[in-house]
Amino acid sequence: MSDCLFCKIAAGEIPSKEAYADDELYAFHDISPQAPVHVLLIPRRHIGSLNEASEDDQALLGRLLLTGQKLAAELGIAEGGYRLVNNCGADGGQTVHHLHVHLLGGRGLTWPPG
Ligand code: AMP
Ligand code: ZN
Repeated sequence: MSDCLFCKIAAGEIPSKEAYADDELYAFHDISPQAPVHVLLIPRRHIGSLNEASEDDQALLGRLLLTGQKLAAELGIAEGGYRLVNNCGADGGQTVHHLHVHLLGGRGLTWPPG
């Protein structure tokens, strides 16, 4: 989508600090980190939110989680533990309308979320 912040980040039109990249996915460090490790994983293709994903996206959604798992290991938080989060819609706290998964770790995270 032409007017989407994360589409522009994935295309390299807006700078970001890359954590992982392949043909289908892009991951970058959050601009306002909420934990020592805070990375966002996105599909390069625009999907507005999890509500807009379909059965056809099954493999892509799986790859987002498994890439989060690999990044957690690379960034040294796999053993200590981490959280992979998708915020969906207004009540879910989604502010950027391009599907993304947060990878958070490097400190103890509280539960339940606010
Ligand atoms: P959410 O609230 O789940 O939609 O998450 C959006 C996330 O995007 C927030 O954690 C923001 O800090 C992050 N964010 C917004 N703009 C940028 C940017 N230009 N580069 C990196 N992260 C960003
Ligand atoms: Zn987008």
